Amino acid sequence: MLKKRCLFCNELVPVETDGEYETIFQCMCAPDGRYRMPAGSWDRIQSLEYGKKHKLFPLVSGYIRQRAERDRQGQVTLTFDEVLGVEDSTEVPVSIEQKANRLTAYLYSRSERPGQPVNLHPLSRHSNLTFSPTLQELVFIIEQLREGERITREGSVLRLTEQGWRECAEREAQRGGKPCVVLVEEPAAREHASEEIVTVLRQYGYEPEVISPSFDDLAQDAAWFEHLSACKLAVAELANAGPALYWAAGCAEALKIPAIWTLWDGADEAEFAPNMALKPLIWRTKEDIRQGLAKRFAIHAAGAVGTES
Ligand SMILES: [Zn+2]
Repeated sequence: MLKKRCLFCNELVPVETDGEYETIFQCMCAPDGRYRMPAGSWDRIQSLEYGKKHKLFPLVSGYIRQRAERDRQGQVTLTFDEVLGVEDSTEVPVSIEQKANRLTAYLYSRSERPGQPVNLHPLSRHSNLTFSPTLQELVFIIEQLREGERITREGSVLRLTEQGWRECAEREAQRGGKPCVVLVEEPAAREHASEEIVTVLRQYGYEPEVISPSFDDLAQDAAWFEHLSACKLAVAELANAGPALYWAAGCAEALKIPAIWTLWDGADEAEFAPNMALKPLIWRTKEDIRQGLAKRFAIHAAGAVGTES
């Protein structure tokens, strides 16, 4: 594959041209994916005046990164006009405080609890997380956050402190929280799950959507996958869960969305027996869920999803 320097971050990376689009792979603008521009945009952008490019490009890199992080399944498409408009976009932070909030929001999105390490090695590939024109500015922001006791730092490993985490959770709650899905079977479990599980998940900074998967969803798996792909967590309640619910939870796991199985221990008669091999979090009260989730999040952080010993 042809290699080029990304216009916005200057990394030498593979570029694919199909006549319609130029697709740029895994530069620091989209480290886990790619972004693309209509063919011809590249040359038009390159021909902009030097001073304009110098100011604009770090912002565009941050802009692409933010969109790439938000939509992990998708691919970012950028037009020439959009590139020119980035400077005036409300998505671009201006003050150091706003930039610092972007960094803590990133750490928050990458961790399940305070104190969990997020490795930004090498730091030079992450200056676009704060839309910073230089690595020095990123380091300055990190040091400010450290002095303010929002984060701790060991080299390029950053961790949110309790305070930093709490502030992120509050900001996320104002913005609607981390998207998350709660899968429950109609009708027995739905009432309990939506009240109890949802309340606890909100406390953890999630914005849960309660869904009862049906066999109609099975026929529309592309739409279902798209719907799920933005979720940061899936909770599947096994009380009287039928095959469609197991299938839906399996889709979440296939998308690498952390999945947690719960089982309300209050149903009288169930048509379907729960699959206990999944070792669900068995609960009766909100406190059971709160404690169980704290434990599961710790297990997720250690990398052993869905198992408990
Ligand atoms: Zn780039």
